[in-house]
Amino acid sequence: MTGRTTIHIPGFRGDVIGPQHPGYDGARAVWNGSVDRRPRVIARCRGTADVAAAVHFARDHDLEIAVRGGGHNVAGTAVCDDGIVIDLSAMRAVSVDPVERTALVHGGALWGDVDHETQAHGLATTGGIVSHTGVAGVTLGGGIGWLMRKHGLTIDNLVDAEVVTAEGEIIRASAHDHPDLFWALRGGGGNFGVISRFRFALHPVGPTVMAGPVFWAAEDTIDVLRFYREFVAAAPDELGTVVRLGTIPPLPVIGRELHFRPSVAAACCYAGPVEEGEQALRALRRFGNPLADLVTPTRYVDHQSGLDDTVPHGWHYYWKGASLSQLSDEVIDLVAQHAYRTGSPRSYAAIFHLGGAVARVPRDATASTSRDVGHYMSIDAVWLPEQDDTVRTSEIGWARGFFQALRPHSAGVYVNFLDSDDDISRVREAYGDDTYLRLAEIKAKYDPENVFHNNKNIQPA
Ligand SMILES: Cc1cc2nc3c(=O)[nH]c(=O)nc-3n(C[C@H](O)[C@H](O)[C@H](O)COP(=O)(O)OP(=O)(O)OC[C@H]3O[C@@H](n4cnc5c(N)ncnc54)[C@H](O)[C@@H]3O)c2cc1C
Repeated sequence: MTGRTTIHIPGFRGDVIGPQHPGYDGARAVWNGSVDRRPRVIARCRGTADVAAAVHFARDHDLEIAVRGGGHNVAGTAVCDDGIVIDLSAMRAVSVDPVERTALVHGGALWGDVDHETQAHGLATTGGIVSHTGVAGVTLGGGIGWLMRKHGLTIDNLVDAEVVTAEGEIIRASAHDHPDLFWALRGGGGNFGVISRFRFALHPVGPTVMAGPVFWAAEDTIDVLRFYREFVAAAPDELGTVVRLGTIPPLPVIGRELHFRPSVAAACCYAGPVEEGEQALRALRRFGNPLADLVTPTRYVDHQSGLDDTVPHGWHYYWKGASLSQLSDEVIDLVAQHAYRTGSPRSYAAIFHLGGAVARVPRDATASTSRDVGHYMSIDAVWLPEQDDTVRTSEIGWARGFFQALRPHSAGVYVNFLDSDDDISRVREAYGDDTYLRLAEIKAKYDPENVFHNNKNIQPA
């Protein structure tokens, strides 16, 4: 097989996209515009049989494999150089069983696809907070979102999965079928096979929820975060919040005079009756002197896409992740010192509040371990493709400096927030030694040759 001839994948019905294909550049692009990899072939699958055919083909030709779901991983692991991309982006179907309250979701679906179909029945499951993020990668890493404190992580709602193994076999993983694999899939990332279908449990949500952000001036950060710490400690499980520190994004719903003003925001979603949400959020909205309060009854499906335009495809991104046991005074001071030192108005830091149902699942029930931490933090450097290397260097420097300052207070990291320069020691940090070793044993059983290694890799024991 060479890169120059048309590639034939036996038994494959999807599109085979090589470097000569007019769609090649579009097909190899991922969300993070700073990732520029040139696969030898992109196998855009139409179904599970295509995924199996692509795995067989890759093994027969000893090809490097990358697996693409939504293509959002900041490290760009959905694409590889000179290998095959098993691309599930055309497999986005979602079907809902409203009686069983489950959704069958194909392996390339985005969260917008899931919310669209499930909300048609007034149902939802915990998913990513940007609608163009992939279901597969989010789920395999654990899955955090607005609903997690009420309904658990995304993996806590996973009922079963259809998996194409490293041998190209199609198997089912659930509490009863291959339970070791099912345990590993719930947090262990894309290490154990290609997931062609997920089945999730659904819950009644909305369709209207009390949701939106409250913005305060950056100068008020310490006071706001100290108040927020006490506020969320007493918050009901229905309330999901994410703090965002950066400049106010230039969204149409926000007054122009506030665009790009440095600010600390608490974005909220109350997954219960609107009147209850109004009550639950009252104290937060009354705190200090908000620059803007956009909390209002909102369709859940709209809230789920409200942040989409702040992180579009094609901009350049670099992340550092850290988990925080609690927002101590010291952590708050460090956050206030570093958050606004960035030179780019698009860079920001986000702090997700966990607890509730997430923390009630035993640590060893799934491969997602840091359930007992209070917050997941992501420091996100953002710059535009046309900006030169000085901007890139200074934004990456900002994220690293911020992270180093928080490092002594960090209690692990969410595996889905790791970037390409986070090495194996950080992957181990994400799981803890005991879980990492258990994952390594299961890896040795299902993928002993580490065929699936373009990911946050678990090395076979
Ligand atoms: C804008 C943005 C918002 C985000 N918000 C959230 C959030 O709210 N909650 C949250 O938990 N995370 C969030 N994340 C992080 C997210 O969990 C990861 O980026 C995740 O990897 C994205 O999944 P994907 O399918 O889009 O990624 P991809 O880049 O397609 O895949 C990432 C990796 O997952 C594996 N993989 C993908 N598809 C499959 C499959 N079908 N079978 C087997 N392995 C597969 C592969 O190893 C692949 O390398 C966000 C990321 C971004 C960029």
